[in-house]
Amino acid sequence: MNRYKHVALIGLGLLASSISLAMRRADMTARITGTARSKATRDTALELGLVDAVFDTAAEAVKGADLVILCVPVGAMGAVAAEIAPHLNPGCTLTDVGSVKRAVVAAVAQHVPENIHFIPAHPMAGTEKSGPAAGFSSLFDNRWCLITPLPESDPAAVERLATFWTALGANVEEMEIDHHDLVAAVISHTPHLIAYTMVGVADGMNRVAKTEVVNYSAAGFRDFTRIAASDPTMWRDVFLSNKDATLEVLGRFTEELLALQRAIRLGDGDFLFDYFTRTRAIRRSIIDAGQDTEAPDFGRIKPEK
Ligand code: NAP
Repeated sequence: MNRYKHVALIGLGLLASSISLAMRRADMTARITGTARSKATRDTALELGLVDAVFDTAAEAVKGADLVILCVPVGAMGAVAAEIAPHLNPGCTLTDVGSVKRAVVAAVAQHVPENIHFIPAHPMAGTEKSGPAAGFSSLFDNRWCLITPLPESDPAAVERLATFWTALGANVEEMEIDHHDLVAAVISHTPHLIAYTMVGVADGMNRVAKTEVVNYSAAGFRDFTRIAASDPTMWRDVFLSNKDATLEVLGRFTEELLALQRAIRLGDGDFLFDYFTRTRAIRRSIIDAGQDTEAPDFGRIKPEK
């Protein structure tokens, strides 16, 4: 396998730390360099052994790397790309882990020199935690990493990147960029927005005491709060940059919600029963696909580092 010899991680939060730990677990011997915006994060990453060397700037961190992975919020990708572009090693692969692809391509591609393989990607794995101490080596196990090559992407470079993600534990699939953004809006972005909204509703209802919301949360609300605790910067950027697809899905969501609201008002139990039967089948297919287990979740087991 043609493994990378030097991987540079730009941004050292949940995604980057998990990549580093998964690389070590896979016995990859590549040198890992990195940078983050704050000194505190850079110091923590070094202390935790996530990187062999940490640099104050992204320009220094990418020097000599044959794989550069942008692990910063989507809204920061363009500025980082502009900074590193003149310092990239000719022939290296530049990729990212951003949750939105069209906006990242628009922000990054304009800065990338011709002798660099720019191949966007999105590992569909994460938690509500952030920062360098949040990562764990099994984050990508049996999760999907969607690679969204550009029309001009070199197939051999795409294949090499796919092999890297497979070694980290992921299943890899190629997807067209705009289709990726629509899929992400359905299965990730809009559900996050709905969770944020539901927690906001509970927060704003002063006829229900805060202690009641907290104490009785296991009745369903608790699962929303986990998602609604996700990083505000990351999710602000996701919605600002995946606007069209999110609005499209939200429009459909609103129509469905109104249909359910109407069924409740009219006492149409058959409609509700049939609807919930269909949705239960979707949960079954997620378990059958190995993307979750049937075990009741009374609080997640802490993943091993
Ligand atoms: P995170 O834990 O918050 O880490 C972000 C890192 O980026 C931090 O090290 C931060 O530095 C650094 N950073 C922020 N702005 C920067 C800038 N302008 N220049 C340099 N570094 C900067 O975030 P994450 O969860 O790893 O997410 C990273 C990317 O992965 C995002 O694009 C997100 O969309 C994508 N993603 C996230 C998930 C998820 O569930 N979390 C899943 C899939 C993909 P400081 O610590 O110094 O602030």
